[in-house]
This record gives sequence, C-alpha cells and structure tokens, in this order.
Amino acid sequence: MNVALIVQKFGGSSLATPEHIRRVARIIAETKNSGNQVVAVVSAMSGETDRLLKLAREISEEARERELDALAATGEQASAALMAMALEDLGVPARSFLGLQLPLLTDEQHTRARIIKLPTERLKKTLDQDIVPVVAGFQGVNANGDITTLGRGGSDTTAVALAAALKADACEIHSDVDGVYTADPAICPQARHLRRITYGEMLEMADMGAKILQIRSVELARKFKVPLLIKSSFGSDKCTWIVEEEINMESAVISGIILSRNEAKLSVIRVPDRPGVAYRILAPLAEAAINVDMIIQNASIDGCTDFTFTVPKTDLKKTRELVEQVITEIGAQELRTDDDIAKVSAVGLGIKNCPGVAARMFKALAGEGINIQMISTSDIRISCVIEAKYGELAVRVLHDAFELEKRNNERTNNFSQ
Ligand code: ASP
Ligand code: MG
Repeated sequence: MNVALIVQKFGGSSLATPEHIRRVARIIAETKNSGNQVVAVVSAMSGETDRLLKLAREISEEARERELDALAATGEQASAALMAMALEDLGVPARSFLGLQLPLLTDEQHTRARIIKLPTERLKKTLDQDIVPVVAGFQGVNANGDITTLGRGGSDTTAVALAAALKADACEIHSDVDGVYTADPAICPQARHLRRITYGEMLEMADMGAKILQIRSVELARKFKVPLLIKSSFGSDKCTWIVEEEINMESAVISGIILSRNEAKLSVIRVPDRPGVAYRILAPLAEAAINVDMIIQNASIDGCTDFTFTVPKTDLKKTRELVEQVITEIGAQELRTDDDIAKVSAVGLGIKNCPGVAARMFKALAGEGINIQMISTSDIRISCVIEAKYGELAVRVLHDAFELEKRNNERTNNFSQ
C-alpha cells in the first residue's frame, strides 16, 4: 500500500481547551496509525488572536504592524507546542515548528504577507524520522528575519502552501463546520450538504466560503491542484471535497445560493458620457486599495449617464469622500449612496451552458415582489442586489426555484478521492 501524505489543519474552535487539543491529537494519531504520514497545522486557540490584538489596542492605537505580527504569531506558537505535547503524550513522536524555523519566507507586508518560498527539507527530514511535524499556522518570516503574518484566517493558507510544497495527497481543513451547503442552513432549513464542489465555485462563493476558510487558500489550492477537504473535528462524518473540474463532469446547474450583506452601493448621477470618466471615478479608489465589485453604467440618452457600483460597507465612508472630490471635476450632478442592500448570488458550473438560468432567477424574485437593483454575472455566477430586508427571503425562494434540496441535482461523476 502506498503511504499517503496528508496535511491536517485545525482551526481555533477545534483547539479551544486542553480537552479539545487532546481530541485533535487523537484525530492526528489515528490518521498516522492507519498508515499515513501527517503534517499538522494549527491555528491559535479559539479567541486568542482577537484577545492579543485587543491587548495591543489597549496599549497603543498606533502600534507598528511589525509588533502586531510579533504579538499575534504567539497564538500559533502556543498551540503548536501544546499539540506536540499532546501527541507525545499519546505516544506519537511530534515536534512543533514556527514559521521562521522552516523557514516560511514571505514578503515584507506585515499583517498580510504573501508567501515567497517554502523549503520542505526540515519537514521531510522530520517525516523520515517518523515524527509528526506540527506547524504553527498564519506566520512566516521576511528577508530581514522579522516575523510576519498572512492575514486573518491565514493558517488555511499555511496548510495549503505546505500541501503544495510537499505534494501532499490531500489537505484537510478541520473546523466546526462539516462542509459546504447549498445555502446557509441557518437561513434556509432545506439547505443540503454538498459532497464536492469545484475550486471555481468555492471562489465565487467567497462570501460564504470565507467563513469556512481563507479564500486565498482556495486560490492557492487551485493553482497547485491541491485536493482540499472540509471536515469537522466535532464528530460529523460528513465532509466536502473542493476539487478541480473534470472534463466530463455532469454538473448541477446551480450548486449554491449565497447572501452577502457586506456591500454598499454608490451612484454617480448624470455623469457626462465621455472617455476617461469611469477611470476618473475609480482611479482614486484603486489607489486607496478599495475593492470595487459590481459596476453598472447605462447607455446615455442625452450625453449623460448614471454610474453605479458597489464597495465593501466598511469602505463606504472613505469611498464617498474620494468620489465627492471628483464629481465636481468631471461635471456630474450628484452622488447617492445606499448601504441598505444585500447581494444574493446563484453559483454553479451549469450556468455556462444552461440557457434560461438568469430568467428563472429573476422570475423567482419577481414572484415575491423583490425588486432587482443591480445585476452582475460571471460564467458561473449570477448576482442581484436587492433591498436588505428581502435578503433571507430571496435565498429561500431561489433555493426552491432551483430545487436545490434534491440530491439528484448533485453531479454524478466519479471523483478520485
Ligand atoms: N489565528 C489567526 C486568526 O484568527 C489565523 C487563523 O486562525 O487561521 O486569524
Ligand atoms: Mg479560520
């Protein structure tokens, strides 16, 4: 039998107490004892990163990001050491490793660093000695030798990067959810668990996906074709594989309905319709690193058009200030903003080659008297901006309209698992 190499990552809620840590150690031990090689990656214990960052704010609102990283990285340092102890206690030889011991080399951007290089010699040597490496997630080291972190939720990215570098057979993400559902079960009781979903769909479900794992880790997994598995460490036997699309994949038209309440809408009214205007409106936002999501511009009738777009709610104030500065310069009439909106999206591979999906979606919303304010599409997603109060209703209505509660909607091919 071939020995499989599995990277197992455990989130903070799976490590909340010593009891939790011991339970996770048993999961790792079982995986190893059934003949696999395991590299464990751990987050900080539940709430620890928040606690540390709050502490920093109590000391200083202006703390340098270098020091914030030095502080936040200690959460993972503690849980990696504790996990190695718990494993040894079970008779499983284990060693903890910090980012700088590998070293997981990143760029200079403190608090949101990107991985540049990830040597595997030390880990391979450890595995060869039949010892389980326990890697502290979320952290790295830059060329100056300073500690960096990969952004909130960054342990997922550590795990996928390790799986890619080690050419692991799978990367398991263990948390308190047992996978991806056709909708948020808290909103839609009919929501069905999905056994598989493609990287592309998961990325389009970013708002929902981000609650499950750092979206950057999915991008990385897709790039390096790392099979990702979402699993619960709390005893559910369900899981969701995130995998590549196969050529002969018999796919569901729609895999899931997602609700996002994180965006706000801005409309620049009566913008003179001439070259360069959209650029003038959006350039300052790009410079301020504000992510513009949907953009709509109508055809002009009398030389003027309305230009509407969405940004994260948290960036609304800044965006308003920046756009207000340009509206007089470009001769537009006024700026209107609205943060009482929700975005409901249908995501599925079948959208590409199944005509009528958009019509079905709009019909279902119309049937409930829900007005669509904006529409945007990709080849596997259709999103509508609607009034915030209809968000949850829209999810249920669309879940019904696409009959997502039925299992035969799920794709039927054989994935290699
Ligand atoms: N502990 C870090 C955070 O809370 C990283 C992680 O959990 O993935 O963001
Ligand atoms: Mg997480």
